[in-house]
Amino acid sequence: MSALILQKDRLTDFLSLLYEYTLWAPVQRDTVTLFEVIKDPKNTPVDLEHQASLAKRSIFPQSEELFSFDQSGILNDASKEGSKENIIFGIRPCDARSFRIMDPVFEGTMPDPYYLNRRQRTVLVGIACREPFANCFCTSLGGNPFSQEGLDLILTELDGRFFVEVLSEKGKEIVEKTASVFTPASAEDGKQREDLAKRSEGAIKRKVDLEGITEKLNGIFEHPVWKQMASKCTACGICTYTCPTCYCFDMQDETTLRKGRRVRNWDSCMFAEYTLHASGHNPRPTRAERLRNRIYHKFKFNVDNFGTFGCVGCGRCISLCPFNVDLIENLSTIKSLA
Ligand code: SF4
Ligand code: SF4
Repeated sequence: MSALILQKDRLTDFLSLLYEYTLWAPVQRDTVTLFEVIKDPKNTPVDLEHQASLAKRSIFPQSEELFSFDQSGILNDASKEGSKENIIFGIRPCDARSFRIMDPVFEGTMPDPYYLNRRQRTVLVGIACREPFANCFCTSLGGNPFSQEGLDLILTELDGRFFVEVLSEKGKEIVEKTASVFTPASAEDGKQREDLAKRSEGAIKRKVDLEGITEKLNGIFEHPVWKQMASKCTACGICTYTCPTCYCFDMQDETTLRKGRRVRNWDSCMFAEYTLHASGHNPRPTRAERLRNRIYHKFKFNVDNFGTFGCVGCGRCISLCPFNVDLIENLSTIKSLA
């Protein structure tokens, strides 16, 4: 299908036509922009300017009840419930790629129906990154500010309008349902999009050469560098909670005398309790071991298990760390070790 144009002043009309879906979009709340469910697009302006966090919770909720139970057995199993399809509108290309990194984890030998049902029932409508953010380094991870990987539609902001490209059958369906808001794009629109894509890629200032990093990690498990890298870290967990590829979780049974529910919550490998055994022993007792594990997980274990780095280079863990722990600097340090 050829490209289309959506005038900016028709964006609300476009979103309003998607009422049959559960619509997630970035919304500014105080000083942060978060993905939320939008019920009334006319009165909830979306924020496409800032780097929004937590698109992943639309498919992998921060806290979810998996099922409830009583003495007779399982009562409500959320994996069997039908639900409206999701649209994640305004997702960044790196965040769309992050689902491709998480998918094999939940597909695995024990497929997770909670994640997989939502994943299959979700449409990803991306916004190309015209102006990369200060700590973006997606190009070092095989990504690109205009990457179309994993997206169903992608919008590029031109002056006063969006250039819209259809990338899948799901995307085509959305465009057909909302056809009244679009006009055909011209060759000049397409050229503007190409120029912006080139400029944006060139505007990414932060880079790290990851060639050979997995092999390098094989030999430095006991190196003193981990203590030095973790010296500023307070184990707050922000880097993991805001990371689009982090998926660690904990499960709890919350019970009263005769009934209960099983709840899954995000967890963080940066917390001391994460690996604390019932015996009191903790195999990762200090922040150095936990920071080391986070880097090993993303740049070695994920490669060993799934063949890709567990990072898309969004830079959020750098921008949002309250103590300036800098993943790019840490990776560069690891590369420079003899
Ligand atoms: S955000 Fe920074 S301080 Fe907090 S756990 Fe991560 S590295 Fe440590
Ligand atoms: S840059 Fe940091 S927050 Fe972003 S995907 Fe990589 S590890 Fe996660």
